Amino acid sequence: MKIGLMRKIKGTMLKSMHGMITCREFEEFVLSYLDGELPARQARIFEWHLRICRECREYLAAYRRTIELGEAVLGPAHEAVSEDVPEDLVRAVLDSREG
Ligand SMILES: [Zn+2]
Repeated sequence: MKIGLMRKIKGTMLKSMHGMITCREFEEFVLSYLDGELPARQARIFEWHLRICRECREYLAAYRRTIELGEAVLGPAHEAVSEDVPEDLVRAVLDSREG
């Protein structure tokens, strides 16, 4: 089963449902969500997607691990930890997930 194709199909399905976001939009919201910057209404939509979409649950888990890893390497940050994670590290983890 091709994950990419499944995501594309699911994205189209979700888009046709009122108020739903696609997996792609989910990925764009991840950082804001983890920073607590997502407006309440969008956070609810985000969490709803999280409940019904296994791929995005795994994506979020991988993202959180990356942030924790970055924190372990760089030491605890005072705030906005995610911004201190090297972009290369984030990309490496996300790339390995696609493989
Ligand atoms: Zn998704």
